Amino acid sequence: MRPENGHQARLLRLLRDGGPQSRAELGEAVELSKSKVAIELDRLAELGFVETAGLAASRGGRRSHVVALAGSLRFVGIDIGATSIDVAITDGELRLLSRVSAPADVREGPNTVLDQVLDLVGKARADGAAPEVHGVGVGVPGPVSQRDGAPVVPPIMPGWNHFPVRDTLGAALGAPVMVDNDVNIMALGELHAGTARSVRDLLFVKIGTGIGCGIVVGGEVYRGVTGCAGDIGHIQVDDTGASSPVCTCGNAGCLEAWFGGAALARDAEAAARSGRSVWLAERLQQRLAEGSGPLTAADVGVAAETGDPVAVGLIRDGGHRLGQVLASLVSFFNPGLVVIGGGVAGLGHQLLAEVRSVVYRRSLPLATGNLPIVLSELGGTAGVIGAARLVSDSVLSTA
Ligand SMILES: [Zn+2]
Repeated sequence: MRPENGHQARLLRLLRDGGPQSRAELGEAVELSKSKVAIELDRLAELGFVETAGLAASRGGRRSHVVALAGSLRFVGIDIGATSIDVAITDGELRLLSRVSAPADVREGPNTVLDQVLDLVGKARADGAAPEVHGVGVGVPGPVSQRDGAPVVPPIMPGWNHFPVRDTLGAALGAPVMVDNDVNIMALGELHAGTARSVRDLLFVKIGTGIGCGIVVGGEVYRGVTGCAGDIGHIQVDDTGASSPVCTCGNAGCLEAWFGGAALARDAEAAARSGRSVWLAERLQQRLAEGSGPLTAADVGVAAETGDPVAVGLIRDGGHRLGQVLASLVSFFNPGLVVIGGGVAGLGHQLLAEVRSVVYRRSLPLATGNLPIVLSELGGTAGVIGAARLVSDSVLSTA
């Protein structure tokens, strides 16, 4: 099922992004005459894409029929992270109808993880939320070849290199599948449902285990020549030589080696073991007693909230380094908005304050004059909404 021409594709996207609208409004938006828009909408109804949803309020003259995307349209959004999987079912307007998640380890390889994914999709559909699926979007924590629908040399995904994620899930679910980097799908989620709804050019910075940046240009994700645009975690900061931490990529002093979730956990552990932070030392003892694993970035956040000076210092230093990189990106790209999300963004306002102060101080005033730098408001849902948006862009187009 595909729209047959560009007019139909535009009408479908207007309905996806703006909700039900009258035939008159849609005709104005796509600059088609009343009769032509009626022909296209009738055809879309025959194809099963749209349905009539009553009469619009009168704007003088005859009342116009309201059109909506078909209530039976269903997309599946899948966000595969380093340590968890999120799956959601959405309707045509990408509203969440059901959502399930489970811990997972992406290092266990594609066969194990995709089995878990299919299991979760089954659970999400169990209550009849999606008798039929019209498209499946997938985010993975690594670079992706759009052409092959497969990860390409993903550093934290052993066994996934060139694994046909798109074709495997497509065969299992019987629907078109699109695969992209997890940061890109989160950027798409922000564009569709977050603070970025009215913005066409933005940067979405994800701080998770690592750090990445989704680049949205003119309302579309910019992926670069080989799909690794926005890999800002490996930009070098503070080139102070011997003291720079070594990164998973083999270089020293990368942004994420200073300040990803993994780096924060490492620094928290060191501060606890050396006794520099009494709070973190006690937390570590407690974790060891419970057998609940080593300290995490989230522990640093809690410690900072209680005023622990070491934890506050870690967040400030990290925010400062992130701010340095962002200041350069802002001068280079001149975005209309910067959104910071991902698990470690839960560190919240201390982090945000530090990032803002560096960016506003270092970037050119013309670039930062009207530049909001905000935390994501979508919480954990940006990825699944964005994944659904990714595949809907494809399903609702003619190509
Ligand atoms: Zn690196």
